[in-house]
Amino acid sequence: MTDQFAADKAARELAGEEGGFPTQEQAPPGLTTEMTPVPDHGEESWVGRGRLEGLKALVTGGDSGIGRAVAIAYAREGADVAINYLPEEQSDAEDTKQWIEKAGRKAVLLPADLRDEQDARGVVDDAASQLGGLDILVNNAGFQWARRDGGLQGLKTEEMDRVFKTNLYALFWVSQQALKYLKDGSSVINVSSIQAYDPSENLIDYASTKAAINNFTVNLANEVGGKGIRVNAVAPGPIWTPLQPATKAGESMPAFGGDTALGRAGQPSELAGAFVFLASPAEASYVSGTVIGVTGGKPVF
Ligand code: NAD
Ligand code: MG
Repeated sequence: MTDQFAADKAARELAGEEGGFPTQEQAPPGLTTEMTPVPDHGEESWVGRGRLEGLKALVTGGDSGIGRAVAIAYAREGADVAINYLPEEQSDAEDTKQWIEKAGRKAVLLPADLRDEQDARGVVDDAASQLGGLDILVNNAGFQWARRDGGLQGLKTEEMDRVFKTNLYALFWVSQQALKYLKDGSSVINVSSIQAYDPSENLIDYASTKAAINNFTVNLANEVGGKGIRVNAVAPGPIWTPLQPATKAGESMPAFGGDTALGRAGQPSELAGAFVFLASPAEASYVSGTVIGVTGGKPVF
């Protein structure tokens, strides 16, 4: 926890709030600068040790949240990084780009809606051509909508379409396209969720996609293992990112993350270690087909 975050939390506790975050809401997809407090992506803390020197990475949803923390850490570890995001997130993407460039690495910005098959495939081709190859794919883009009116009965087809297209169709298309470029030593890292193991009723569609992503991870790991390509996933618990105030009731923010063993939500910076480890050809050379939980203590089995 950063000092600033700890200070903000202490101030809210004194003010009688539940100790999570102030009540707040945004329209999807949400912007970093409109969050209180602004999340910690490791800007001031991540120290690179050359673990991804010379590698080329594509991070979908790399403008904000977990994707931004991964992009910053990857750049500091020596990788050039392309990020994809929605056009309305350009300002967040520019911030991430600055951090990648400050680390002395190449940043490539690729705005596109991954729900469109042509655009999703185009993002991969553009990343590979502008980076001069591709070694790491992080399938991080994702969407959820926490229904205020409960579970399955309230689920609308257009909500399902957005969730399934973003979290699954796009992940299938992007991964399929990336196999044209990935080679021995490369890896794919998918972003799962605690929701794959401990699903919430008002996220029944989202939780289903995350369980499917775990299954996809094991399956693809088997398919491409013979080529020396590793496929893994990270399952985050409650993490303070724009996705939360943009898709949940604002009044649920004060309690967000309070039900974990550690008693708080995680910051995006706290996810980067798992993604660097899994991407590292040296450190994770025999790690494939697995899911690493970064959940503040919620079980991922
Ligand atoms: P975030 O809002 O910062 O990132 C999600 C990103 O997905 C957005 O920035 C956006 O660029 C991208 N995206 C959404 N729809 C898209 C589309 N149609 N086309 C292209 N890009 C699109 O939030 P985050 O929490 O960092 O989310 C990253 C991943 O982490 C997601 O897969 C999410 O499901 C997962 N996750 C988050 C939490 C959490 O508590 N924050 C918990 C478990 C899993
Ligand atoms: Mg964003």
